Amino acid sequence: MNTSKKEKFTTTIDKNVLETAKKTSHEKHLPLSGVIENFLKFFANPWIYCFKCGERFNAEEGELCPKCGWVKCPKCGTCRCGLEEDTAVAVFHMRRVYEDLLSGRVRK
Ligand SMILES: [Zn+2]
Ligand SMILES: [Zn+2]
Repeated sequence: MNTSKKEKFTTTIDKNVLETAKKTSHEKHLPLSGVIENFLKFFANPWIYCFKCGERFNAEEGELCPKCGWVKCPKCGTCRCGLEEDTAVAVFHMRRVYEDLLSGRVRK
């Protein structure tokens, strides 16, 4: 249930980006405002899923491993340490999607 107050938000973005987004949101039957709201929530407070146990947690809440610099899962404590090199590289590249979306590191 969403009881939070709605507020009008006006911005200027690239025309082509907006048109493509409108078309996609229409195809997916999702209101564009909801898509933007979702993204802004993520942007302000990014969450990640543990690649080991699947726990969803806030990237700001996880403890950073001093050894590998990755956010540790608060549930199982997994970080890059102990991963096979191939797996670590795969996870690293997957997380880059977040970094592209957030225009920066998941967490500095
Ligand atoms: Zn975990
Ligand atoms: Zn580590």
